[in-house]
Amino acid sequence: MNRNCRNCGNQITKFFSLGDMPLVNSFLKKEEISSEKKFDLSVGFCSRCFLVQLMKTVPPEDLFRHYLYFSSVSSAFLAHCKETADYLTERFSLTPQSLVLEIASNDGAQLQFFKEKGIKVLGVDPAKNIAEAANKKGIPTVPEFFNAALARKFVLEQHICADIVFGANVLAHVPEIVDFLTGVKMVLRPKGTAIFEFPYIKGLTENKFDTIYHEHVFYYSLLALTNLFTNAGLELYDAETTWAQGGSLRIFASHPGTFSKTNAVKDILAQEMKAGFDKIETYQKIEENAVRLKSELTSLLTRIKGEGKSVAAYSAPAKGNILLNYFGIGSNFLDFIVDYSKAKQGLYTPGTHLLVHSLDEIYKRHPDYLLVLCWNITHEVVNMKELHEYKKGGGRFIVPIPEIKII
Ligand SMILES: [Zn+2]
Repeated sequence: MNRNCRNCGNQITKFFSLGDMPLVNSFLKKEEISSEKKFDLSVGFCSRCFLVQLMKTVPPEDLFRHYLYFSSVSSAFLAHCKETADYLTERFSLTPQSLVLEIASNDGAQLQFFKEKGIKVLGVDPAKNIAEAANKKGIPTVPEFFNAALARKFVLEQHICADIVFGANVLAHVPEIVDFLTGVKMVLRPKGTAIFEFPYIKGLTENKFDTIYHEHVFYYSLLALTNLFTNAGLELYDAETTWAQGGSLRIFASHPGTFSKTNAVKDILAQEMKAGFDKIETYQKIEENAVRLKSELTSLLTRIKGEGKSVAAYSAPAKGNILLNYFGIGSNFLDFIVDYSKAKQGLYTPGTHLLVHSLDEIYKRHPDYLLVLCWNITHEVVNMKELHEYKKGGGRFIVPIPEIKII
């Protein structure tokens, strides 16, 4: 199976195959289990522009058919949004004449903080029900996929040009990425800046392989992004790491020659060259490490079960479903699974078909161990007041990533 790079057209080389995987955000009703579809999930590398990308993408109608919407109303997320709005307003001296255009703006969680400051805002989000909710809240939102055709319409028909184009967790999801960025260039004012946040590829090289799933078409290094933005007629001039998703990158791009490149860009590029992000050998280690973790975790679970002890999984995030399916961990090792989200409770997990319970199940069945699948927030989980009694009763936690740890 060969295919060409979605940025430069060069032939890409596969370095990690997870096999056929279910869609990890598609939780199932009982009657849907027998017709569940699986799709190849493998990742390749372009040796010309260094872009890491899926070998094969899933048709959107399959990807989004069962998509559950989980609004991110956590106070930590909203605090991050407010902080972002304060920071960008000050850094770019935004005024009531400025326009902030957000792509994949969801229900307006981010834009509301710009609007509060009297700055003009516009959202774009393909989910009609979510766009509707945002419009009701007073955040104007266009219910479309953002691309060059939509950008052309904005500019030519509606005379919309943005001082800031913002997108969090969208850049990795768009298969036609060059067309998307061409659209960004079209709507960006001459001195405007486009800002994107997304998971940084460094995580993959630190054993966080479970962030590979069908929705994530691209896994970005700054090296690859520099080439990609150049191809779309944009220039990347600043970058910083943020806390979001346990290791994200925030990048700043403009029309070429508008701003000078910061030292941060030069430093990160130098670090990436040193770490070998321009070589396929670096990425080939990801599979080796995932195979080793699989063997270590299944050995541990075999031993625990052999001692007659019980194990439940704590939470069923997308990455957790990748881990369970790739490691072959289901009802063979797990007594049950719980998740905080009411939207998932009562449904079955993709691929492993475990019924998702509420946290109450922990107190009904008293498992000896909880396998923490949302390992990026282990500290929060271990200190949750809902799990205080579990810990007091001798309950332990198994953290699978980046290295296996028992707490
Ligand atoms: Zn390429």
